[in-house]
Amino acid sequence: MFHITDIKFRYTELTMTTQYRSTDGIAWIELDNPPVNGLGLATRKGVVAGLERAQGDDQVRAIVIIGSGRGFSGGADIREFGKPEAFAEPSLPAVIAAMEGCSKPIIAAIAGMALGGGLELALGAHYRIAAADAKIGLPEVNLGLLPGAGGTQRFPRCVGVETALQMIVSGKPVAAAKLAQTGLFEGVVEAGELQQAAIDLAAKVADGSAHPRLRDQSVPAGDHAQAIAAARAMVDKTAPHFPAPKRCIAAVEAACTLPFDEGLKLEGQAFVDLINSPESKALRHAFFAERAASKIDDIGPEVQPRQVRSVAVIGAGTMGSGISLSFLSAGMPVQILELKQEALDRGVAHIRKTIERSVQKGRISAEQAEQTMALLKPTLDYADLAEADLIIEAVFEDYAVKDAVFAQLDAVAKTGAILASNTSTLDLDRIAAQTQRPGDVVGMHFFSPANIMKLLEVVRGKDTAKDVMATVMALAKQIRKTAVVSGVCDGFIGNRMIEQYGRQAGFLLDEGALPAQVDAAVERFGMAMGPFRMGDLAGNDIGWAIRKRRYVEQPEMIYSKTADLLCERGRFGQKTGAGWYDYQPGDRNAQRSAEVEQMVIEHSAALGVQRREISDEEIVQRLIYSLVNEGAQILAEGIAARASDIDLVYLSGYGFPLWRGGPMFHADQVGLDEVVAAIDGFAQRYQGAAWTVSPLLRELAENGKRFNG
Ligand code: NAD
Repeated sequence: MFHITDIKFRYTELTMTTQYRSTDGIAWIELDNPPVNGLGLATRKGVVAGLERAQGDDQVRAIVIIGSGRGFSGGADIREFGKPEAFAEPSLPAVIAAMEGCSKPIIAAIAGMALGGGLELALGAHYRIAAADAKIGLPEVNLGLLPGAGGTQRFPRCVGVETALQMIVSGKPVAAAKLAQTGLFEGVVEAGELQQAAIDLAAKVADGSAHPRLRDQSVPAGDHAQAIAAARAMVDKTAPHFPAPKRCIAAVEAACTLPFDEGLKLEGQAFVDLINSPESKALRHAFFAERAASKIDDIGPEVQPRQVRSVAVIGAGTMGSGISLSFLSAGMPVQILELKQEALDRGVAHIRKTIERSVQKGRISAEQAEQTMALLKPTLDYADLAEADLIIEAVFEDYAVKDAVFAQLDAVAKTGAILASNTSTLDLDRIAAQTQRPGDVVGMHFFSPANIMKLLEVVRGKDTAKDVMATVMALAKQIRKTAVVSGVCDGFIGNRMIEQYGRQAGFLLDEGALPAQVDAAVERFGMAMGPFRMGDLAGNDIGWAIRKRRYVEQPEMIYSKTADLLCERGRFGQKTGAGWYDYQPGDRNAQRSAEVEQMVIEHSAALGVQRREISDEEIVQRLIYSLVNEGAQILAEGIAARASDIDLVYLSGYGFPLWRGGPMFHADQVGLDEVVAAIDGFAQRYQGAAWTVSPLLRELAENGKRFNG
């Protein structure tokens, strides 16, 4: 016995997602719920049914739980999130209790991955073996939760407190090989040997009388108090706004100090508290927002993306060089084109410097850096771009310049090449009309610095072909960007909203606030940077140029004049050493500027405005609700397909606090009726012309509805 004798043996189905077979004294329970063997209700039922069948079969002397396809199990079945099935019996703790109550030895044989609930299931087994490259982890903290099926109690008992804290609090998985020396595994083998190893282990343990259960063991000795204190200090510093890491630590501490069942109870309470916490709701929202954003309603899997093997970038300035870096880092060949040798050299030098910095930081080897640089081909000649599959334009934000570039691209690019523009505000349809192939034209709006910022707004023109959209969405994944589709409008999703935010910030100055107060208030709310510090970083001249165009195109749109006055003084921001704040040479720290504050106060006087004390609450509401209001309008116009897309834009591109889930989600939490009441109040009191409540926002509020479901 205990040899693979019948490899063709068919499993019998216990449920649609669990298979069972018994051969040579071993019962094999196979998790079979693609794509990641999520532990949905049917799978949980299947495991329990398998255990019962094995218990009742005298021929069976050992049980192996194993996964089919991509791995052991990726944990909870996210298709059941928010549904009653998620918590229906048998719950995961009940399945694990059934395993621990089984008189026959259970072996979890792990290939591919055991994550979250998948690992907790394995911890309920008496023995575990794994393929060396299997990913092992408890990532619940990433959704603002903690492992809620005993993971916080059983995991420290086999890997020790330090490793458990490290893995549960960070949520980062590690390869099984890294845990080979811990009490987690009986053995770590090569992936191809896992089944035989399970059979060998079954033979070894089949006749033993008592099988070890982690619940009966204590945490390995060590300086637990010290490890726990260190983890607390780290979390206080790095994740002060999230309750989950703190609760994870408290649960691991309980594993050291409390009897097992009491620790389990503490873990269970923490799980219930966390799942109802606004922070976890926000993180789960962001998680689902990202998945939703990758889908385009009218573009299904039947639309084949085009092949993109090489990229060309026009313009080697701030954006062009950052965009090039994004593709180079993903191993794609990039041609970069400029009009003048000097500008080209500057861009290439910047790219080289950035790559060399990665070597200094130990992120890549010197050899990798050379290989990456070898992928870059600088050129001054449009004719060289004839074979490029994708050409991204990042020249000056000016119709005349862009029109000329696109006309030229139309002349040289091969048939089927995708022509993309990185424009921040200009009309993509007008740009596309410069070519004979508007279907091939798309917006790829990167954010600065383009090699670092996650967000990519993919702008769909009225003629953009479906396969072009599918290609760009797939490419975004390849270069690790978070892609969100936007329709054509001035500023697309993100910048159109930030425009309203910036306008309110300006009005606040006129009415009585100072830049430092406004920035501090929204930074306390959680924005990575207030509007004035952000202006200084991005360059106030950029907004100035946009406003000058708007004064002509939309004369009815009113602005505070303070930003123009600032620019008239040459205070463009960090790059000129002076903006809304003063900067010491070589120092990016913003210092309050007496000159600017004087300018703001004098401007109020010139307007005849009696400056008043403005509360931080009003500042935050006016800035954040201006985003919400414009977001609603963007949704109503179909520029964004869903509210969660807007949230994703703000979370990944504008430093909106993750624990608040994005502006639209935040408004849902506040209550849309309250948001509307606040805006109505502001509109009545001052700057009436600056506020018009979006009809969609008002309608949702009146009907007690939300943006996000
Ligand atoms: P930049 O001034 O740093 O770079 C523009 C580059 O284009 C310059 O190096 C210039 O020499 C080159 N150029 C001009 N005309 C050209 C032509 N006909 N052929 C080839 N090269 C030409 O500007 P930037 O900040 O990189 O912005 C470029 C584009 O990206 C703009 O459309 C801008 O709106 C957009 N954008 C900028 C940011 C940002 O934060 N800077 C963010 C997103 C998008």
